[in-house]
Amino acid sequence: MQLTKNFTLAELVASSKAAQLGIDNTPPPELVPRLVLTAQMLQAVRDKLGVAITVTSGYRCRQLNQAVGGVTSSDHTQGHAADIVAPGYGTPTQIARTLAPLVSVLGIGQLILEGVKGKQWVHLSTRVPTVPANRVITITDRGTQLGIQELP
Ligand SMILES: [Zn+2]
Repeated sequence: MQLTKNFTLAELVASSKAAQLGIDNTPPPELVPRLVLTAQMLQAVRDKLGVAITVTSGYRCRQLNQAVGGVTSSDHTQGHAADIVAPGYGTPTQIARTLAPLVSVLGIGQLILEGVKGKQWVHLSTRVPTVPANRVITITDRGTQLGIQELP
């Protein structure tokens, strides 16, 4: 199902981990409208960056979220969030620095630059965190810091 010009439902649901473990990651119908909102946010980001975006992890059913070690409250399990990379634009740090001042304009509720276990990506959620300061944060193996910080 095409959700926006450049994003499909299949892209937001695909998971090599789910395939590997035989987990059915089909979202319940009530979450599809949220995935549409997530796709609209991703489309705004794609249009801003002007290059293709790869969704490395979108919707995760509870079982898949556990399998990848996601936190229980993860926005991924609610269809609110997507992890992305865009090598055609630059590193996750460069992407996060571009998007951070534009979160409201682009419909991003929360922007997280993540650098964990040698991998880097940008986490985007449509849900605004309850603590406003947590809207733009960096998460590394050392913990969570406010704003976009240098990755180790
Ligand atoms: Zn994420």
